Amino acid sequence: MSSLDLDPTQLDRYSRHIIMDDVGPEGQSSLLDAEVLVLGAGGLGSPIIQYLAAAGVGTLGIADDDEVELSNLQRQVVHGDDDVGRKKVVSAAAFVTDLNPDVEVRTHETRVTKRNIDELIADYDFVVDGTDNFATRYLVNDACTLAGVPFSHGSIFKFEGQVTTFAGEPDSPCYRCLFPEAPPAGMVPNCATAGVLGVLPGTVGSLQATETVKQLIGVGESLDGSMLFFDALEMEFDRVEIPKQADCPVCGHDPAIDSVRDVDYTDSCAIGHDSDEPGVEVGN
Ligand SMILES: [Zn+2]
Repeated sequence: MSSLDLDPTQLDRYSRHIIMDDVGPEGQSSLLDAEVLVLGAGGLGSPIIQYLAAAGVGTLGIADDDEVELSNLQRQVVHGDDDVGRKKVVSAAAFVTDLNPDVEVRTHETRVTKRNIDELIADYDFVVDGTDNFATRYLVNDACTLAGVPFSHGSIFKFEGQVTTFAGEPDSPCYRCLFPEAPPAGMVPNCATAGVLGVLPGTVGSLQATETVKQLIGVGESLDGSMLFFDALEMEFDRVEIPKQADCPVCGHDPAIDSVRDVDYTDSCAIGHDSDEPGVEVGN
């Protein structure tokens, strides 16, 4: 695609991108051609959806099966007071359409499970995980790693967050290289009641959106191979290397996992949930 393919309105809308040598009309066209899936339209999903839509990511998939609750509005900024009770995918899609009519939104009003995730991610160039429970985190890691689909990971807890990118290259590590197994059920606080500083997902989700845009344009250094930890109380960032583990059960030399359907994704932070059906929970 050349700059001739951008219409005058797009040349104006994206002028602050196009004027940069590292983006230019080619980079903007790459964004407009990209198809990105955002899992969760909650705390992390909100800034991810906002900035990817504003940047002109041409196709945005949004997967979530939840409804907007009043207690979400402290941090889930794509939803407004009038959206309480609406499906989050409907509310988020309306936000995107209002912000940027260039973006085609595909809503997936569903829980992401080991039965539908392979089909779901197959249509996308990049996946952004904005879910908030361990079961889905491992499910997304395993499915994307096995399929070779690059993805962004982000998580938040009280005042702390972490973010990384798994670029899907042969030498890329995966989440299990750092944390091979989810903590056992009952070992982590219930995510819905743990509490989170309202602005924290704004910081972490914005970092995920930054990584996504860079990946789609193909510029800069990504977090692939390292985890960025953020402590909002101390206002400190700490970047830790993630060595690729030769014996990793997903991306190692002789992986034990070759299909997500064979794995029991037990939800460590939502005791009592059906362990066979981890879903996109957007209490974050
Ligand atoms: Zn691995």
